Amino acid sequence: MQKTLLIILDGLGDRPVKAFGGKTPLEAASTPNMDSLAASGVCGVMNAMPKDLYPTSEEAHLAILGYDFKADHPGRGVLEALGIGVKLKPDELVFRVDFGTVDKDLNLIDARAGVIESVKDLCKAVDDVEVDGVKFKIYPSLLYRGVMVLSGNPVKNYLKKSNSAVSDTDPHKAGPHKLGVRVLHPKSFGDSKDGKTVARALERYQYLTHEILNEHKINKKRVKKGKLPANFILTRGGGHIKDIESFKDKFGLKSACIAGAPLYKGIAAYMGMKVINVKGATGKLDTSVKAKVKATLKALKKNDFVFLHIKGTDMAAEDYGDAKMKKEFIEKIDACFAGLNKVKNVVISVTGDHATPCELKDHSNDVVPVLISGTSISDNTKKFGESECAHGGLGHIYGKDFMKILLGG
Ligand code: ZN
Repeated sequence: MQKTLLIILDGLGDRPVKAFGGKTPLEAASTPNMDSLAASGVCGVMNAMPKDLYPTSEEAHLAILGYDFKADHPGRGVLEALGIGVKLKPDELVFRVDFGTVDKDLNLIDARAGVIESVKDLCKAVDDVEVDGVKFKIYPSLLYRGVMVLSGNPVKNYLKKSNSAVSDTDPHKAGPHKLGVRVLHPKSFGDSKDGKTVARALERYQYLTHEILNEHKINKKRVKKGKLPANFILTRGGGHIKDIESFKDKFGLKSACIAGAPLYKGIAAYMGMKVINVKGATGKLDTSVKAKVKATLKALKKNDFVFLHIKGTDMAAEDYGDAKMKKEFIEKIDACFAGLNKVKNVVISVTGDHATPCELKDHSNDVVPVLISGTSISDNTKKFGESECAHGGLGHIYGKDFMKILLGG
């Protein structure tokens, strides 16, 4: 039976870079292996989401993988939680959290607390707290990130009636982690009494833990060393787990995912894919692409569909705005794709979830290139890049049609 491998290079698309003579990082990179897949297959360009919407990674992935990015979206918190292996119940409210730094008036100084290396011990100090009948659990994730789970009767009743969440307290929408903005008050939706209780309890928990974190020895030490204390838990992406159709039921395919970053493992787990943990897969630029590709080829033996996710392309652009770093990371990936074009009976697709132009250090609605190799269809594309793929046989496609094209081809 024919198998399918979908490789998503996060934030792959980019814009022409002057230092590369007007080529994008992907076009400037030496990518003989992806070029070979492009040359043997069919190419095009894609917008995972409608062009008038900001493409978040999670929504773009839901769309590409055949789900409704609005109706099926459980909130970023749920996906992050699943990605670090937290078991969730539908009557729990879940947030993605960042440990940030605020001043004494709760104005934001840094949403990442100077990119603190770990919040494991800080989480222990603020875990298992109950406020007004709402129970708070908190789990550490990568660096300054974590997940917060709220349970108890007020939460249960609120979610039963309103199917809603609680608004973000991280003022990220005021600008990219705008400094000096006071952290926001959490608000419930509608006029539910239970909702108001939950929002108030969350705010009280944040004030309480702010005091605990300020006094924590880790933060005292950080301040002494001139570092920023991780003294406030910023919440965002509230939601609760939904019962969606599994990937198996939707497409009839046994599937697995190989990813480093928790969000993508969470997206796959949410769809019921088997998540394979790979040693050396960090979800960062230091990841072992080689180990991930090896695990992918192994997973293809036991599964009909394998989703491989690589995050570094987005990080080089979004966190560093460094086109050379992005180009070199693409070359590192391509070197690990040697031999992929010789794998038999596997349809291989390489694409991105959205563009992350280095000049913006942010996601954009610029198209991403797509290649599909291993079907009977091919076009005249010789090289994998934005400009060449724009003239490919697939034309300009949207995320919602991608699985149909991939599986139908
Ligand atoms: Zn992304």
